[in-house]
Amino acid sequence: MGALARTAYQAAHLLGVTALMRRLQGSRVPVLMYHGVSSKRINGVLNCEKKHVAAADFERHLRFLKSRYQVIPLSRYGAFLRGGGALPRGCAVVTFDDGYENNHSYAFPLLKKYGIPATVFVTADFVEKGESLWVDRLAAAFASTTLPAWADQSSGTLYPLANDAEKTAAYLQIKASFKRLGPRDHASAVDSLLKALEGAGRSPLAGGGLPRLFSPLKAEQIREMVASGLVEIGSHCCRHLGLTNLDLDEARREVFSSRERIAALTGRPVECFSYPNGDANPQVTTLVEAAGYSCAVVEGLRLDRPGPGSRFAVARLALKEDDDEAAIAATLCGLRSLGLRAAGER
Ligand SMILES: [Zn+2]
Repeated sequence: MGALARTAYQAAHLLGVTALMRRLQGSRVPVLMYHGVSSKRINGVLNCEKKHVAAADFERHLRFLKSRYQVIPLSRYGAFLRGGGALPRGCAVVTFDDGYENNHSYAFPLLKKYGIPATVFVTADFVEKGESLWVDRLAAAFASTTLPAWADQSSGTLYPLANDAEKTAAYLQIKASFKRLGPRDHASAVDSLLKALEGAGRSPLAGGGLPRLFSPLKAEQIREMVASGLVEIGSHCCRHLGLTNLDLDEARREVFSSRERIAALTGRPVECFSYPNGDANPQVTTLVEAAGYSCAVVEGLRLDRPGPGSRFAVARLALKEDDDEAAIAATLCGLRSLGLRAAGER
């Protein structure tokens, strides 16, 4: 966060603007999006998008939520959006995507400490088969490669890889382009890039495998969290592929079979859905509704606005690791996303 934004949020907070906006929100509910919680702040390619926040930062977020909001499970918000009664004022929701093991080791103890419920969206192949997420395999390969540069033959782009900043830039650009590929092109593109990066350096997949940061939840950890009554498990599909890149039958299998597999794993119905990469269109949304989910989340990075049909496109917000109390307040009340839109940022 820049010094200017920090000062602006502090002024808004001191002047009572964030508190006023929170009171004026009415039925608008901040839905927070997390991925992982780590023992300490992690930098570099492995965490270049800050998907994993440090436990101390996460605890600061939870303390703020506990003091100002009533945190409810996403399924309760979904029931409200479906027309199931009223919500108390000042609700918020906490969600996690993907299904990382650190949700159990670092987030769950803090959720229990503060009595805060959360919804964890798991990728079925990740947590059941231990198949690591392709984005994490790529990040680990970029982090450990000794290749000085990589030439993408298909686009004719040369990516320099001499230092962490160059590796991060290459990783983000290549990841974004791979997300647009269909499943078969995607698999072969990932495979050949991994071979190129690993061929010239120590393989992140050899020996000790991927960094612990990228480990999946185990079945018993999922069941322990569910049994606590604080955590509900939602679906993040089977393979974490963008659903709009799949043909309709494949997308249907991802949406329907992940719901069945996760219900079998937890012994509970699966109410909530999170689109991998936030990737949805009307056909995909129709599948999600037909499969029986009560609501679905996108990324959005804005305060959700309930309305007709909105329960299958619930927007989420993200807190940053260095957010102070004023920045947290500004994010949750929607002030920050207004400012980012005005500045043309996400
Ligand atoms: Zn995801």
